[in-house]
Amino acid sequence: CRTLRLVFGDQLSPDLSALADVDAAGDVVLMVEAVEECTHVPHHQRKIAFFLSAMRHFAAELEAGGLRVDYRRLDAPDALPSFGESLADAVARHRPERVVLTEPGEWRVLAAAKTWQDRLGVPVEIRPDTRFLCSIAEFQRWAGGRKQLRMEYFYREMRRRHRILLDGAGEPVGGQWNYDADNREPLPKGLIPPDPPTFAPDAVTRDVLALVAERFGGHFGRLDGFAMAVTRADAEALLDHFLEHRLPLFGRYQDAMKQGEPFLYHSLISAALNVGLLDPLAVCRRAEEAYLAGAAPLNSVEGFIRQILGWREYVRGVYWTFMPGYAARNALGAHRPLPRFYWTGETDMNCLRQVVTETRDHAHAHHIQRLMVTGNFALLAGVDPAAVNAWYLMVYADAVEWAQLPNTHGMALFADGGLLGSKPYAASGKYIERMSDYCGRCRFTPKRQVGPDACPFNALYWDFIARTRAQLAGNARMTMIHRSLERMDPAKVADLRRHAEAVLAGLYADA
Ligand code: SF4
Repeated sequence: CRTLRLVFGDQLSPDLSALADVDAAGDVVLMVEAVEECTHVPHHQRKIAFFLSAMRHFAAELEAGGLRVDYRRLDAPDALPSFGESLADAVARHRPERVVLTEPGEWRVLAAAKTWQDRLGVPVEIRPDTRFLCSIAEFQRWAGGRKQLRMEYFYREMRRRHRILLDGAGEPVGGQWNYDADNREPLPKGLIPPDPPTFAPDAVTRDVLALVAERFGGHFGRLDGFAMAVTRADAEALLDHFLEHRLPLFGRYQDAMKQGEPFLYHSLISAALNVGLLDPLAVCRRAEEAYLAGAAPLNSVEGFIRQILGWREYVRGVYWTFMPGYAARNALGAHRPLPRFYWTGETDMNCLRQVVTETRDHAHAHHIQRLMVTGNFALLAGVDPAAVNAWYLMVYADAVEWAQLPNTHGMALFADGGLLGSKPYAASGKYIERMSDYCGRCRFTPKRQVGPDACPFNALYWDFIARTRAQLAGNARMTMIHRSLERMDPAKVADLRRHAEAVLAGLYADA
């Protein structure tokens, strides 16, 4: 063939740069289900099923559009274990004049791709991923020379550049850039969020589910009840439903947690967005339209758009600017192993039990569950960032490394020393009590600091503040809490730290 065009599992977009100048008559599109990509970390069963089903549907879409797709199924008798081997085999079979790809979403894969030209003996062209709203070069121009990178300033530039939620004078609609202060309410009793739409598995998905059960049934997670959006049409329907039914209250309750309600008012589009089934700018425009039509309030729409236009682009820029060293940072010197309950859900701490169970069942948890429950606990307990990162990458269907790593490593664990967030997101049981109904059904009491009924988050929190105090003394956002620590009776601090030690000892007792 003339050109062999590669499409990775998170590149399922018809406007992918690798396909820009495709010639249906002379080119071949290569898509590979590589077993190594499912097992280099053993991903959640649902996550694997989602990726494989979305890939198979996308390949069918390309074929229906007249393209020749060489689709390498994981269960084919001649399947090769890695992407690299499948590519070499495809080059030998198709004898292309060149190979074209869009830069992959993972540093490890891009590093490998840069060796392909020499190894395969054929020209390899790596194109920028133009599906994002800010290129890596643009991000680096913005970041260059700044002492601190703050998402808020980046976000304002992105609003201006893409002219989103601006008035005629180029100022933010409503007079403020950010309405986060309106977006921190717990869910009132009696308010029942609408059920999200479900997408019954078709024959393609059913095949994939059987394959995953057979080959990866030992991985974390469950497959039953799989109802994810795996096609462009499904993803559009998911977005439509969100804009109409959940966006209006999304903002107000975006930080709320409620037992038995894993989805609340969240959009649930992150997995579809991250594999390319939705276009980020189009999603932002749809949300803006909902505001302009009076169908959703500004605090919801601005908060939603900020996640996509601001945060998502910002973490991608951070990832590509600071990798590979970024992943190796361990600013707080955290070295404990990941507690076993992250896999089993077996813990008396109800908040953690709920979040891990929902994660196992749905390969999903919303941002506050990830940041303030599982992330916060790992931060307070001093769990090794590498172990925590691996867990987040494995268990969430939307976890592609450029998005997952900065969120976990930087935002949740402060392992980057404050590059991404201005202070550690450490919180005691009080925060979880305020934002959820978990504590009422927990055997611990969030009001107690020490003793057998005390919420373990409390002592761990003060132990964290005390043990990082010298290191974080120069951080202005920690001054208030450091003052509170200083004002505390030293005997009480000692008591709390002893209790924290006992909690940690208990946690690893059976390990
Ligand atoms: Fe979690 Fe503590 Fe509340 Fe229990 S009391 S649910 S451990 S925050």
